[in-house]
Amino acid sequence: MLNGLHVDGSSRPGGGTPATLVDPATGDVIGEVAQSSVDDVREAVDAAAAAFPAWAARTAGERARVLLRLADLLEADAELLTDLEVAETGKPVPVFRDGELPFAADNLRFFAGSARSLEGTGAGVLSEGFTSMLVRRPLGVVAGIAPWNFPLVMAIWKIGPALAAGNTMVLKPAPQTPRSTVRLAELAAEAGLPAGVLNVVTGGADVGQALVADPRVAMVSVTGSPGAGRAVMETAASATKRVHLELGGKAPALVFADADLEGAAGALTMASTYNTGQDCTAATRVYVEASVAEEFADLLRERMAAVTWGDPRDPATDIGPLVSVEHRDRVHGFVTRAVAAGAELVTGGVVPDGPGGYYPPTLIRGAAQDAEIVQQEVFGPVLVLGTFTSEDDAVAQANDSAYGLASSVWTVDVGKALRVAHRIEAGVTWVNDHLPIASEAPHGGVKGSGFGKDMSHEAVLEYTVTQHVMIKHAAREAHDSFRPA
Ligand code: NAD
Repeated sequence: MLNGLHVDGSSRPGGGTPATLVDPATGDVIGEVAQSSVDDVREAVDAAAAAFPAWAARTAGERARVLLRLADLLEADAELLTDLEVAETGKPVPVFRDGELPFAADNLRFFAGSARSLEGTGAGVLSEGFTSMLVRRPLGVVAGIAPWNFPLVMAIWKIGPALAAGNTMVLKPAPQTPRSTVRLAELAAEAGLPAGVLNVVTGGADVGQALVADPRVAMVSVTGSPGAGRAVMETAASATKRVHLELGGKAPALVFADADLEGAAGALTMASTYNTGQDCTAATRVYVEASVAEEFADLLRERMAAVTWGDPRDPATDIGPLVSVEHRDRVHGFVTRAVAAGAELVTGGVVPDGPGGYYPPTLIRGAAQDAEIVQQEVFGPVLVLGTFTSEDDAVAQANDSAYGLASSVWTVDVGKALRVAHRIEAGVTWVNDHLPIASEAPHGGVKGSGFGKDMSHEAVLEYTVTQHVMIKHAAREAHDSFRPA
């Protein structure tokens, strides 16, 4: 039942008032989906808590086998999952079917393998007369809270490391995009995941808060806006829960005069418009060396204007609509205010007639560094072009942000690329590209972008705690616990 919840191994209707789902490409109502009540949340946590001891006791190899089967089932279910994601997000069909879906399956396969190499470090004699073991243990019930921009991928980034490490989970997708996550839970049951190990509840911030507040939830992993992250952290603080926060971004791209300017313009157009700019790592602030500013602005204008936006089900489409008309109006508000404040609109910036949340790729120049369009996350296909005069100036402007998730440097000078990369405050710095990710590489930010890593072995470690088991193997005097080694 894709319009329901998934609790304790089966789908069911929710106790809340059903919500309406809207196709962002057409504005048409897709249907109604169940919303969870507080009782549903409690029962989902009941199920996750009951399932934890047995799941944690399985060997890593057994857990891995279930996740590997789930990865295969995801790929086999591509048609339905694509229909669900395209209808709810407005992503072009190939973007999901040929990109995000196989990537999500690859993530899952990585986590399945990663959990099998969770070795405790430092086993041996650390203190005379004792054998020590440092053991990695799961935490218990983890709450996952996901955003709408990559519904399935974000769900996998949460369940993959958490379940691989032996935790159980209650996952809440964003209210706009619940159905691929409910489908994921059905497929997990088919793959042999025991009932209660993965539960899905639906709803908005109130359901999220009920989940975070449940005393049996040991850790909360949220991907979303800074406001949601702070609200989750406050609730989690009152019960001393671990939090993992993947929040927004405002990624700078620093383009030096010696770079391949044509290549940079093409790649940064892609990096600012992929998923219609609704990507926390999207290139949003491009600073180009002043000596090539005019040439680079022309290249960017041409590339941005050539992006094909429209019907996500048309194979010729590069980018679909924004997630909703309301979000499109919010994005346009940023552009309108920037222009009113004196910035130049180079291309785009006009709301098209007709239904759906469409917005054209938009390039803006000449905004002040402290303008809201430079400082705040717009989350649309909007790129702001500025200039710099030196390496120091470039780094200072890049770091002048509350966020610190992604960044890129464009130059053929390896030394310069490394010098700048070492000084940028961000979780990732690409050199001569912007956006690629890999299952093996940690993803996560610094500053207002949050903390904690998704993907990679580091993500699996985030969902574990180290336990020191110290075994006395020889007599020693009592009460000298501070004896130096
Ligand atoms: P959002 O903050 O509105 O919602 C995210 C999730 O949090 C949703 O499931 C929502 O229901 C829930 N939520 C919201 N307020 C809550 C509260 N007070 N308590 C508990 N749960 C709450 O974000 P969104 O609009 O869905 O997604 C866009 C945001 O996500 C952007 O800021 C984007 O940068 C960020 N994002 C970050 C990453 C990353 O890896 N850093 C990845 C994707 C998206």
